[in-house]
Amino acid sequence: MSTGTLLQLDDRCHRAGWRSIRQASGPRGAWAILREAVEAGLVASDHRPERAAAAVRHAALNNQLEVEPAGAVYQISEHLAAIAEQIVYVVGGDRPWARPEPILLDEGLWWESGVFRDADGANLRRVVLTDYWGESKMAGEGQSWHEAGEQAIYGGTLTEMIVLLGAHRENRFHGLWSKGWKHPQNGEIRLQSVAGGEFKRYIPFWREDERIPAGRWAELMPTGLAMTVQQREPLETNARRRWKALAKEKLAEMQDKREPLPQISQCHWPSRCPMGPCAV
Ligand SMILES: [Zn+2]
Repeated sequence: MSTGTLLQLDDRCHRAGWRSIRQASGPRGAWAILREAVEAGLVASDHRPERAAAAVRHAALNNQLEVEPAGAVYQISEHLAAIAEQIVYVVGGDRPWARPEPILLDEGLWWESGVFRDADGANLRRVVLTDYWGESKMAGEGQSWHEAGEQAIYGGTLTEMIVLLGAHRENRFHGLWSKGWKHPQNGEIRLQSVAGGEFKRYIPFWREDERIPAGRWAELMPTGLAMTVQQREPLETNARRRWKALAKEKLAEMQDKREPLPQISQCHWPSRCPMGPCAV
């Protein structure tokens, strides 16, 4: 787990933060597994899209993918594997991505980065997976440990590659990365939904079920609607200092305090606490 993820978790629930540095994470939902798989693919040295897909399947086979109902795990794992593959195919470029080096904050306290270095090494970049993008989401990400925290540690700008996955309903992402429509007679495939008329005759499908290769899908996908890129300006020196000092203090506190009390209002929504819910 990156330090940004740890601090983000700790801001939401101190008990989850406290537990995260003491025990392995339990089974995780679709979002977490997808993020981990995309990152595994981006840093792989070869066959990166395929390795992202393999990371999802590996997690599912090891009972790390939490799906409701449990019987759907194979299908959902294939769905997520196809999306992870597609994302790395589209955003990954032609070279493996590299993490910034860990930074020692204080004795025994390291910052382990969760973002990536730009190709030229001077700035940071990050892939954001989301079901929507708007003002509140934008502000939230900018003020998160995933972004401001990382920028405080390493300086420079941060480029966000925002992947819009579509609505997440009944375990699947209904968006351009995974869903298409096929004409019942001539087999024509469309990714964008057009309401009414002739389009009503098209039949929805998932990429993994039709086994459409990632390269072919990328040609069909209107990339401008499926993702957007945004740049965050560097943090000012004082802000950097404050974020860094706070990170150090929070990490130190997590090391030695007793297990915090359950924080029951925080642990079920929008996602279940990965360290075991605080519900009493
Ligand atoms: Zn909790």
